[in-house]
Amino acid sequence: MGTANQARHHVIIGSGVAGNQAAETLRRRDPDSRVTMITLSKLPFFNRYDLPRVFHGERDWRKLIVFAPEYYLDHGIGLRRATRVTGVDGARRTLALAHNETVHFDTLLVASGASPYIPAELAEYRPLMHGFASFQDAVAAADALPPGGHAVLMGGDTTGLDLGRTLLATGYRVSVVADQHLLWPHEVTAALRPRYFDALRGMGFTVIDAEPRGQMSAVRAAGAGRPARTLVFNDGSEIGADIVMPFFGIAPAIDYMLGSGADIERGLLVQPDLRTTNEAIYAAGDVCQIWSDADKRYRFYHGWKNVRAMGELAALNVTGAGLPWVPSQDESLQLCADGRLHSPFWEYA
Ligand SMILES: Cc1cc2nc3c(=O)[nH]c(=O)nc-3n(C[C@H](O)[C@H](O)[C@H](O)COP(=O)(O)OP(=O)(O)OC[C@H]3O[C@@H](n4cnc5c(N)ncnc54)[C@H](O)[C@@H]3O)c2cc1C
Repeated sequence: MGTANQARHHVIIGSGVAGNQAAETLRRRDPDSRVTMITLSKLPFFNRYDLPRVFHGERDWRKLIVFAPEYYLDHGIGLRRATRVTGVDGARRTLALAHNETVHFDTLLVASGASPYIPAELAEYRPLMHGFASFQDAVAAADALPPGGHAVLMGGDTTGLDLGRTLLATGYRVSVVADQHLLWPHEVTAALRPRYFDALRGMGFTVIDAEPRGQMSAVRAAGAGRPARTLVFNDGSEIGADIVMPFFGIAPAIDYMLGSGADIERGLLVQPDLRTTNEAIYAAGDVCQIWSDADKRYRFYHGWKNVRAMGELAALNVTGAGLPWVPSQDESLQLCADGRLHSPFWEYA
């Protein structure tokens, strides 16, 4: 890049797949700039798709990290861990951190991903559910499962079923409580639902349809003679388990972008070049909805390949490439000849 760019400060919010791919590309394309990555995470970047390894007994987080801390030093990428962004001022080009620091940026890439979505009627029971978003979550869930224990996966989205396959392979009992989030983000028609239930049963899952039970209504903690967790349905029926885990899809992590000047629908809205309505702010990964001319709407693109490609594209465009988004992920759910289900969202690397 030319001298005009020398003092440019590229800030990236998020150190997931999208943020790290963007940092690598920015460093390469704009070697004289400052690149700062800010993340809530206490650990350096680890591959979330590798988290199921915790259930194979892996307890050393260093075995899951993709880049050691030296990588960031060697590449001149400032990594600020355990740091929360609380607000963005798009006009002033500043962002606010939770500890009252203000950071100036020339370009901002929002790659803050998403959090597990929990339906409003179940939100108060969140403390009784085991999450699966971080290494610490995964260890807590694995520690709460006795050998051969029973895990209940509420909702049954693709991330949950991916974990479920590992749990089955490691000797646990796994029940999927299917609601409208079954296999999300794939669309499951009513006609195909029974076939998918059969396929999941063939894979070893116990499948419980939440609909005839009036949907899930509560989670209860252990009581006298009761299992560690009980999932209760609106018709009064119950299932006991060692752990219950929410897999109802995800909600973009964008609270701090309200008032930033960038448009928001469910995610941060971007044009095909991944630029938001503020010319200095781009977005990539699970946090954004990209304008699709074919569909005439803003839409999410999920999956590891797409997320990484978005990080790459955003960095290319921040540094002047002017390229449009082209999806790089097959999105079709497959019912294989052996009766098993395969989601392309389960593929990575
Ligand atoms: C165990 C597991 C298995 C998965 N399996 C699949 C799968 O099989 N198929 C599939 O399609 N997807 C799967 N996913 C989802 C996949 O991980 C995501 O699509 C991908 O991680 C999104 O990458 P990202 O870079 O957009 O965001 P993330 O990886 O979510 O990274 C977000 C980053 O933003 C940071 N952040 C958020 N808010 C703030 C803030 N206010 N201030 C500072 N930093 C912030 C976070 O700390 C984090 O570093 C899985 C996820 C998990 C957890």
